[in-house]
Amino acid sequence: MARRVLLVEDEADLRASVAFAVRRAGYQVTEAGTGAEALAAVATAPVPDVVVLDVMLPDLSGVEVCRRLRADRRTADCGVVMLTARSEEFDRVLGFEAGADDYVTKPFSMRELLLRIEALLRRTKRPPAPAKALASGPIVVDVDAHEVTVDGVQVTLTALEFRLLVTLMERRGRVQTREMLLRDVWGIDADVTTRTVDTHVKRLRQKLGPAGAAVETVRGVGYRFREGGSES
Ligand code: CA
Repeated sequence: MARRVLLVEDEADLRASVAFAVRRAGYQVTEAGTGAEALAAVATAPVPDVVVLDVMLPDLSGVEVCRRLRADRRTADCGVVMLTARSEEFDRVLGFEAGADDYVTKPFSMRELLLRIEALLRRTKRPPAPAKALASGPIVVDVDAHEVTVDGVQVTLTALEFRLLVTLMERRGRVQTREMLLRDVWGIDADVTTRTVDTHVKRLRQKLGPAGAAVETVRGVGYRFREGGSES
């Protein structure tokens, strides 16, 4: 069955180009030109697998649309890729805080956008029990056994540090805001502040030793597990 993409973009030419490329890649595409149209589309049509969401819309901002998608149980798990302008760093931060999974910066190539969509689909459609090893460079995590080794030497992590590491590694290459980590690692009702995230990331890095450098700080946003294993 074709995966569904909801494309929300008010610039008609860009929307048409993106819709064309995404359809050619085999997806079923619904188009919306405003935030209100987007919300109406998800309310009346089957839930999309991925929403491609422009930040600058004429009515609601893309960030607000994203927040509402996340607040609705039906659409809480959709993949969301935001489209931002080069200068909108602030919007990216807000976008991640609102629950966006990823973003591409305008101008972008269709290939780049399609790769992001595919990556999101792999993630959102992953079976609930992944049950396998995660590895990056010297760090190897056996998710089932709850074991972490660095260069073959076992590292003892707390349950929370373990969840933090697995979450970051599963989303490697993608920035995770402190709020996202609080939601997904600590749990949505956790009564902790974002500073708690910093404290635990610091401890996790220390336990991993030099390999801990793979957990990068993204200034003003959050953290990211470095993509690949060996680049500096
Ligand atoms: Ca726009």
